[in-house]
This record gives sequence, structure tokens and C-alpha cells, in this order.
Amino acid sequence: MSSIYNCPCCGEKTFNPLTKAMAGTMKSKGRRCPKCQKLCVNGKGATTFSAIYFLISFAFVIFVYLHGKDSVWWDTHEVPIVLALMLGMYIVPKIVNGFCFKMMETIRLDAYEK
Ligand SMILES: [Zn+2]
Repeated sequence: MSSIYNCPCCGEKTFNPLTKAMAGTMKSKGRRCPKCQKLCVNGKGATTFSAIYFLISFAFVIFVYLHGKDSVWWDTHEVPIVLALMLGMYIVPKIVNGFCFKMMETIRLDAYEK
């Protein structure tokens, strides 16, 4: 049966939520399939999601930054909010990737070089 944890190259179910989350998006080099040794990443859906999520978080960071001196509340909460947003940019797409979206072989030509 086909699932999002199947390797896009050999079709074997060689990934789990954790390894899939660590495979990154189409911009990354990906994670090696233990069966066929091909490098796999999360595909278009995951890449689009992380790009949109990044933009939204970035907009919030700008918003918080612009309002950072509006009041005492903002003054004390500006830094934690920005840190949380930045952390979210890094973590949220990884969590979503672990449970959603199909995988594909990496498109980065330099991924296999070393
Ligand atoms: Zn494979």
C-alpha cells in the first residue's frame, strides 16, 4: 500500500514521521533511503507550506518589531514573541512534514556529490 512514508524511488516504506521530518524540503539535500540509497525530500506540498508559513511568520515578526515600542506590554513581550515565531518557523514545518505531504527524490544536483 502506498503511503507518505514510502520511498519515492524504490516504493518501500523506509521512512517514519521522524526521519521524514528530518528529510527537509526540496531546498535541502534530503535523507538517504536505507533500501535504495537515493536521497529523498518532502515534495512540492511541503515546500509550498514551509514557504507560506515562513512568509506569515516573517510578517508577524515585522509587525511585532514595528509595534515593539507601543506600550510596556509590547516592550516586555517583544523578544519572547519574536523568538517563538522564529522557533516556529524552524519547527512547525518539520512537524507538519512528519505527518503530511508526499516525498520525492531530491532535485539538488549537488546532493550526491562529496
Ligand atoms: Zn528507496
